Amino acid sequence: MLNLILFGPPGSGKGTQSEKLVAKYGLKHLSTGDLLRSEIAQKTALGLEAKSLMDRGQLVPDAVVIGMISSALETNPGAKGFLFDGFPRTSAQAEALDNLLELKGTSIKTMLAMEVSEEELVSRLLKRGETSGRSDDNNEGVIRARIAEYHKKTAIVADYYKKFDKVVSVKGEGSVEEIFERLSNEIDATITV
Ligand code: ADP
Repeated sequence: MLNLILFGPPGSGKGTQSEKLVAKYGLKHLSTGDLLRSEIAQKTALGLEAKSLMDRGQLVPDAVVIGMISSALETNPGAKGFLFDGFPRTSAQAEALDNLLELKGTSIKTMLAMEVSEEELVSRLLKRGETSGRSDDNNEGVIRARIAEYHKKTAIVADYYKKFDKVVSVKGEGSVEEIFERLSNEIDATITV
């Protein structure tokens, strides 16, 4: 299996690049943000709990997202591999993911870490908020809170995978195609190792 993590702060382009990468490499895309928004759309109890946190720019509890990822892994037994997008976002999530993958006899191959300056992130997210309908994208305070959560809880997840020498950094500025090419080159390099 080829299991990859696409990592980076909010607005770094994970969703855009994920769509292209899963098409190219035949992977199953698992985005916790998308899974949570689907719960919200279906007005489930979980969705209701998540929405109030997401609208404040805070992370939803580890147990909630770990549960969602665990069942997504179960419901896709034949997948060639998974592309994790927006997960893991805390050290506890990273450890849980390693355990879940180990039970399946597999592991994370590479974490692709997208690097984008903070001002570029804020301007991209505000622009996305004009059309996305996402309530967490149209308020600069909420955007800054999400980036602060990223620095406080999520950035360290890269250190966890660095210990295993699994992190490659990719410049996340430039055209969508240029960034896609950089990511593809890194993936191709890990596949042939
Ligand atoms: P972005 O990366 O642009 O912030 P996402 O769609 O990945 O967007 O996530 C939106 C929100 O969903 C986050 O701000 C957070 O509240 C919640 N969320 C998504 N994934 C996780 C996760 N793995 N752990 C905790 N909360 C999450």
